[in-house]
Amino acid sequence: VTEHYLEALEKIGNKKVNVEVSLKLTQIGFDLSVEKTYENFKRICEKAKSFNNVVWIDMEYSRYVDKTIKFYKKIKTEFDNVGLCLQAYLYRTDDDLKELLEIHPFIRLVKGAYNEPKQIAFEQKAQTDENYFQLAKMLVDAVKENKARAAFATHDETLVAKIENYAKTKGLSRENLEFQMLYGIKSNTQLRLAKDGYKLLVLISYGNAWFPWYMRRLAERPANVGFVLRNMFTK
Ligand SMILES: Cc1cc2nc3c(=O)[nH]c(=O)nc-3n(C[C@H](O)[C@H](O)[C@H](O)COP(=O)(O)OP(=O)(O)OC[C@H]3O[C@@H](n4cnc5c(N)ncnc54)[C@H](O)[C@@H]3O)c2cc1C
Repeated sequence: VTEHYLEALEKIGNKKVNVEVSLKLTQIGFDLSVEKTYENFKRICEKAKSFNNVVWIDMEYSRYVDKTIKFYKKIKTEFDNVGLCLQAYLYRTDDDLKELLEIHPFIRLVKGAYNEPKQIAFEQKAQTDENYFQLAKMLVDAVKENKARAAFATHDETLVAKIENYAKTKGLSRENLEFQMLYGIKSNTQLRLAKDGYKLLVLISYGNAWFPWYMRRLAERPANVGFVLRNMFTK
């Protein structure tokens, strides 16, 4: 997998396309050896850096959160071209974000995709949404003060609008407000954001494992099955 990422970064760099990459640390050995994962990831960061590119680390199940943040803090001492995903459904994320803001992080904020127990994560969607907005405000302030890069990875149009408004009141320019969404979801909103001058990155998955990847996305949100079927039969 590491070799694949190195090859992909080489191709992206040579073709000079504006594409960043994301990976899960478990794809490059996190369950087997943190040291080996670090070695692998360092090679990926070096390659990305040589092309002035950025690598994003996904956040997985809660059992990986401590390990992943520790890993991120370490790699940040050697590389500045690395971003980390944080999940708004976890109670702990408020503290994690405050700590990470000390090291000029790149943060991708998501709601969170895994089934987590109520001892550690909000049960109600409304609570996660509210926490997302509180964290987003902290991130907008940090971007405004040049203390972070923030990417708001959500398709929630209410949240997107609230973040746009908040950033406006703080005087953050549109090109400094970044959203990230999955390919094919809320395409009209994606086009609108890009047209209005916001930074928008679209996440795509590719490769032989596309089928299990999409099956996992469907499993995360049973409502997606209907969504996919509707899209298969409508123009
Ligand atoms: C760029 C990116 C990176 C991500 N990385 C991670 C990660 O590292 N770790 C992690 O835990 N999670 C990750 N996620 C997933 C994230 O946590 C959410 O599960 C997912 O984005 C859905 O939440 P939402 O914010 O869009 O809000 P929701 O309230 O779930 O959705 C808002 C609306 O968007 C639409 N929608 C949302 N998702 C879908 C979908 N899959 N199919 C069809 N319609 C949909 C629906 O109309 C829904 O009503 C990532 C998401 C994105 C966009």
